[in-house]
Amino acid sequence: MNAKNDRAAWLKGPATCCSVLPQAQSRPRHFVLLGAPGVGKGTQAELLSSRLGACQLSTGDIFRAAKSIAATERSPALNLALDAMRKGELVTDETVLDMIRERTACLRCAGGFLLDGFPRTVAQAEALTQLLAREQVQLDAVLSYELPLETIVARLSGRRTCEKCKAVYHVLSHPAKVEGVCDHCGGNLVQREDDRPESVKVRMAAYESSTAPLTAYYRKRNLLVSVSAEGSPEAIYQRTMQTLDAKD
Ligand code: AMP
Repeated sequence: MNAKNDRAAWLKGPATCCSVLPQAQSRPRHFVLLGAPGVGKGTQAELLSSRLGACQLSTGDIFRAAKSIAATERSPALNLALDAMRKGELVTDETVLDMIRERTACLRCAGGFLLDGFPRTVAQAEALTQLLAREQVQLDAVLSYELPLETIVARLSGRRTCEKCKAVYHVLSHPAKVEGVCDHCGGNLVQREDDRPESVKVRMAAYESSTAPLTAYYRKRNLLVSVSAEGSPEAIYQRTMQTLDAKD
């Protein structure tokens, strides 16, 4: 078993190399993951990544990693992006696409990829289609995770993340053994700024207006695979694999 890939080239940009390259796959898989905030898309991306070997390429993770750069060293575009993120708004297509273009090498990675949180608008999806055509990489499928709105709001408001190792908990469905303390590393469990109720409302509105039309975009291209996000992460993973097998 290879050591875990640290996604350094994705999180920190093209000047950085991954300390451990993802294991080359005989059939690298290329998926886009769609779903409203709180459907458990990130958890599925982690499961798919550990089992299929493909890297989880999350645009939200790039912005969260950028928070640790001193404000004076961040570009004005990055500062505006972090501002938008704090409020739960979408970062501009221009900024996101600049980041993706800088990281094109990750799209060619021999381990494959799972795009998580990108594309988020039809303009981003069109840019991705062009970029992948240029790189001669084909998407296997676009996995769209679906869940009723009330369930989503309950999931988001109870979510807690470890400040140190980023492990994810839920106050009701997956509590830490000691309240507020990470089981894995002892770090503090905090609520993500954008999981606060006022930000959640903005994020859901952004999802409805900008991201939901993406399902139509990919359905038209015969790439959309809808998966119910009810149940445990393992049940959702099994459902994902069965749905993909049925499509092949
Ligand atoms: P996520 O972790 O995917 O929920 O992303 C967290 C936040 O980062 C979002 O609420 C947006 O502010 C920003 N963000 C991440 N990816 C994108 C994207 N593709 N387009 C616009 N904004 C994004």
